[in-house]
Amino acid sequence: MVMKVIPIRSGRAPVPPYDGGPLADTLERPLRDLRISVTDRCNFRCVYCMPREVFDSSYRFLAHGEILSFEEIARLARIFVGMGVKKIRLTGGEPLVRRDLPRLVGMLAELGADLALTTNGSTLVKHAGALAQAGLKRITVSLDSLDDAIFRAMNDVDFPVAKVIEGIEAAAAAGLAPVKINMVVKRGTNDRDVLPMAERWRGSGHIVRFIEYMDVGSTNGWRMDEVVPSAEVVRRIAERFPLEPIDASYAGEVAGRWRYRDGAGEIGVISSVTQAFCRSCNRLRLSTEGQLFTCLFAQSGHDLKSLLREGASDDGIRAEIAAVWRARGDRYSEIRTSETARMPKVEMSYIGG
Ligand code: SAM
Ligand code: SF4
Ligand code: SF4
Repeated sequence: MVMKVIPIRSGRAPVPPYDGGPLADTLERPLRDLRISVTDRCNFRCVYCMPREVFDSSYRFLAHGEILSFEEIARLARIFVGMGVKKIRLTGGEPLVRRDLPRLVGMLAELGADLALTTNGSTLVKHAGALAQAGLKRITVSLDSLDDAIFRAMNDVDFPVAKVIEGIEAAAAAGLAPVKINMVVKRGTNDRDVLPMAERWRGSGHIVRFIEYMDVGSTNGWRMDEVVPSAEVVRRIAERFPLEPIDASYAGEVAGRWRYRDGAGEIGVISSVTQAFCRSCNRLRLSTEGQLFTCLFAQSGHDLKSLLREGASDDGIRAEIAAVWRARGDRYSEIRTSETARMPKVEMSYIGG
């Protein structure tokens, strides 16, 4: 039988149409989770993500015409949901620096997927209400320390802890509780804040997630000896507040879950360096300019923006996405070495964390 092919556009290899069946990649992983980066810009210069020596006034961020419009993002998101995506997370860069973001949230909320947002929290006091009203269901706020001096040094724009905490409270008051609070743990920089962070949010209903410092991008000067293994984080917390492991809430959940034995809530650990979870990785990333990435550590993406702007049909776009997913074999974290850590990779602020 001759397979029918959809001509996508000149210069692009034709791909077979998407037949509507379940999508699995070469390691039998389904597509479930889509992260959408809405901007490559940020008002912070976190030392592990956008070091200011690189992301300075001469850095060329994307121009307005290069980035996907809300309508383009919403069209793609609708196609993805139709292909099995259940969770959409808006990220960046800092998503809340994109003007009028609640309008996009409203457009995506209509699709019925679980809709979440990751933010540095700096402007949440202003935006939390509008985001919740537009249909946002869940929020993750990054906060690396409760020590004001350490936090100001890590965000490198002198931003105070107190304002992020106000943002977390504003999000909870707007109905976005429980808030997930992400802390990237870097040895020698903020690892002494692990226990204070656990203690501060115990019993609050919010969930702190301790993230191993990763070798994303090529600019943060990552070193293995600055990674604090999650096992050490759990041990340090459990010595003071006994913990027990709990089951993942769904297949492919990134965070390992632990709860306080005294019932004061739970924490999560994201161990992408010491306990890679590529086996169950069901995530795709859509960059600000419409490139599709099958792995956080990818070196290149697949251009969906050109398809959109050259008038491709939904069927044509679906066929392209299916072909990308079915060819996927990424398992970077499983095969990480000091060599791969030095390879050029796309920056996290661009691809979407
Ligand atoms: N600006 C938003 C924020 O900071 O929450 C969203 C984008 S940020 C890239 C998403 C998440 O990635 C944040 O929680 C951040 O701490 C985390 N992240 C950034 N660089 C990282 C690195 N090198 N290792 C581990 N996590 C990192
Ligand atoms: Fe900005 Fe988030 Fe990266 Fe920090 S981690 S520089 S807040 S994008
Ligand atoms: Fe998924 Fe790539 Fe991370 Fe592995 S390294 S869990 S494939 S994003």
